[in-house]
Amino acid sequence: MSRVVTGGCQCRGVRYEVRGKLRDVIACHCIQCRRTSGHFVAATACRRQAFTLVKGETLKWYVAVPGFRRGFCHECGSNLFFEADGGERVSIAAGSLDEPQGLKIAAHIFASEAGDYYAIDGRVPVSQRGDHNVALP
Ligand SMILES: [Zn+2]
Ligand SMILES: [Zn+2]
Repeated sequence: MSRVVTGGCQCRGVRYEVRGKLRDVIACHCIQCRRTSGHFVAATACRRQAFTLVKGETLKWYVAVPGFRRGFCHECGSNLFFEADGGERVSIAAGSLDEPQGLKIAAHIFASEAGDYYAIDGRVPVSQRGDHNVALP
């Protein structure tokens, strides 16, 4: 049986499970991620078939850019999911995982839109745009 990773929002109105491995974390510094998260977004990801929404009664979706949506809890405000409509990948806010998963930040993207009040750690690849080479397991 494969490993099950669990997570959810602060108030537990949203809970999810992932069967199998998670991608390493990508930090996105784009303006939408910065505004909606309050800082920048650090997200892991999995394939859609590995993802199960166990409880979604307070889950709400916000379309920032057509074709792309963000899932958050409308009760406690936790940022949770990021996905393209019909895409094969579900991105998951790394801070919503229940247990340490041994993941690392493996890339920074949209560094050109980063805030001016912090420095980006240059020990992993930094892209000014949205490209990266972090593989989805
Ligand atoms: Zn919540
Ligand atoms: Zn972003």
